[in-house]
Amino acid sequence: MAQQEDVFKKLVAHCKEYGFVFPSSEIYDGLGAVYDYGQNGVELKNNIKRYWWDAMVKLNENIVGIDSAIFMHPTIWKASGHVDAFNDPLIDNKDSKKRYRADVLIEEQIAKYDDKIAKEVAKAAKKFGDSFDKEKFLATSAHCKEHQAKRDALHARYAKAMNDNNLEELRQIIIDEEIVCPISGTKNWTDVRQFNLMFSTEMGSTADGSMKIFLRPETAQGIFVNFLNVQKTGRMKIPFGIAQIGKAFRNEIVARQFIFRMREFEQMEMQFFVRPGEELKWFEHWKAIRLKWHKALGMGDENYRYHDHDKLAHYANAATDIEFRMPFGFKEVEGIHSRTNFDLSQHQQYSGKKIQYFDPELNESYVPYVIETSIGVDRMFLSILCGAYTEEVVGENDTRVVLKLPAVLSPVKAAVMPLVKKDGLPEKAREILNDIKFDFNCQYDEKDSIGKRYRRQDAIGTPFCITVDHQTLEDNTVTIRERDTMQQERVAVSELKNIINAKTSFTELFKKLM
Ligand code: ATP
Repeated sequence: MAQQEDVFKKLVAHCKEYGFVFPSSEIYDGLGAVYDYGQNGVELKNNIKRYWWDAMVKLNENIVGIDSAIFMHPTIWKASGHVDAFNDPLIDNKDSKKRYRADVLIEEQIAKYDDKIAKEVAKAAKKFGDSFDKEKFLATSAHCKEHQAKRDALHARYAKAMNDNNLEELRQIIIDEEIVCPISGTKNWTDVRQFNLMFSTEMGSTADGSMKIFLRPETAQGIFVNFLNVQKTGRMKIPFGIAQIGKAFRNEIVARQFIFRMREFEQMEMQFFVRPGEELKWFEHWKAIRLKWHKALGMGDENYRYHDHDKLAHYANAATDIEFRMPFGFKEVEGIHSRTNFDLSQHQQYSGKKIQYFDPELNESYVPYVIETSIGVDRMFLSILCGAYTEEVVGENDTRVVLKLPAVLSPVKAAVMPLVKKDGLPEKAREILNDIKFDFNCQYDEKDSIGKRYRRQDAIGTPFCITVDHQTLEDNTVTIRERDTMQQERVAVSELKNIINAKTSFTELFKKLM
């Protein structure tokens, strides 16, 4: 684990060194949990957004996109429940003065029992070799059974406390489990309190009466309040979806782990409207589709899992997360929620406008039910980087850092390099670059040794390096080096577009989703 944390620290440093992510306002010592994306980060982020947007909007006839404003009428957040119930339970350690989310402390404690069981299993698997039967071991090992029983009891108690919104009980669990503050090491805890996560600001001048408005904590409400606009103008028939990518803001109490939990972040959300009674069928449908979308990137199927929710939000009747194995454990990247007809009904009630759909097949009107898929762009970005960051031994006393990004997402697809800075090679290299730059994001690099230039491209995950040498001038061939295998091949310049396209085009990736 310590080693993993080490890797994570290196990854954060790497993100800064290579222009992926910078702390916001860095020259003023930064702003808590706010980050800026650099020249490579923005390309990777845009590619992630394109992968999501096109998979939703381009590949599905019945899904369309919108881009709604961040500022919305304040009553929207009354109707959605965010003013009254968008809270996190927080607890402070009196010695370190550090603040924590009570639910997160308890969930980490549950994960500790899971780890203990996993360790016992790994130990036994090593001891028994091929004859090891995991199920049998779990059912018979006294240690495992004891850990499992404790875990299950804690889990049940926690789920009940969360569902009952019982803050004293949450504190009592922390006391009973003897959870200590990682900083002070003490159990000197305050009471658990609720904390609203919405940022607010004023709109209009105070003289003629200003209005308190909120920065949206999710993009979803912009979709719900436009349901009728889109349904009518797009002549959409149920089932259909509305997708949106945009910024969201949450005043997170505990903002740690780099871009995992930010105060300003970006979401990609799709609300899929269905007939009442059919929502659980569609929930299963979207659950499967979304996991397939993640896995199609080839980051390793074993790095993803579902995590069903214990505490369902008051509006939901089913919810699951897609988690990715980060260096600090499996963590939520995306949520899939069956939100019932809660949101549309609330807006119908608060706005006084009828928000219904006339279903011509059933010959009746109803408030549609909703399945939501909600993923954070930044968390997706982090998961991709965690999966891609590799330190590889490539010779005696030589390691290279390479980002094994899915090539479609790489910020730069190809780097064109003259072997030396003379003899007409730079001119030839630029000629090649000027031809392929219409199709791919490319870089030109002539500084330092060719080895150093390769390493620079490895560090930002460029799938191809194209080297122009003296032979190029004679026969119009170049060497093309592949990032992961480091294999070099001599190919005709006329072949370059095909070679790069075969590996970096979205088309092949999209075909895997169909
Ligand atoms: P968590 O339990 O981690 O606070 P959540 O369950 O509140 O997350 P949702 O409200 O379901 O998250 O938001 C959907 C997605 O938005 C999450 O899966 C995550 O990818 C992203 N997200 C939510 N909060 C943040 C944040 N503070 N920073 C970055 N991404 C976030």
